[in-house]
Amino acid sequence: MGEAINLGVNLLSNFREKVDQILSVDPCSLVFRDEFTAACQTNRCGRYGTSWTCPPGIGDIVEKRNQCMQYPVATMLMKVFRLEDAYDVEGMDAGRNKMMEIVYEVVDALRAANQDFIVLAPGSCSFCTKCTYPENGCRFPDRGLASVEALGIDVASMARSVGCKYYNGPLTVTYFALLFTR
Ligand code: SF4
Repeated sequence: MGEAINLGVNLLSNFREKVDQILSVDPCSLVFRDEFTAACQTNRCGRYGTSWTCPPGIGDIVEKRNQCMQYPVATMLMKVFRLEDAYDVEGMDAGRNKMMEIVYEVVDALRAANQDFIVLAPGSCSFCTKCTYPENGCRFPDRGLASVEALGIDVASMARSVGCKYYNGPLTVTYFALLFTR
């Protein structure tokens, strides 16, 4: 279990037991890599142009980064999931779904507490079976969260900067979410 951080609100401490680490990150230490966002256009993940949370539907990346940087506090949530083997795609999906359940709980708790925040999720939104992009607007704006990847955040560097492992050994997958609060 990682170090619990006072966020100004202690709300996130309620989630200590649900993730492996909750760590404070200096927003100024975040590294945004244009090469990461440029890589989205190669569509290796198959999500480019399919979601409001991925380029180009997400909009102006620099504007999104600047919006995040308006917040004085950033907090990283990290959770490790075990896989049965190196090809355990179901295990990866199940882990991500579990992580997203936690992220949505955090969103709901922050909202209920009238907090001003931005949450970046691990990976592209898959809340709906089929995203409304590009014909109609996001059906569930509370759930259609931009991802740390879509903003080009160097997650490995972020993890290192707070003494957290990005890679947690063979047959594991690790998911990161990032919250910006005041
Ligand atoms: S919540 Fe639904 S409509 Fe909105 S981005 Fe996610 S999948 Fe698309």
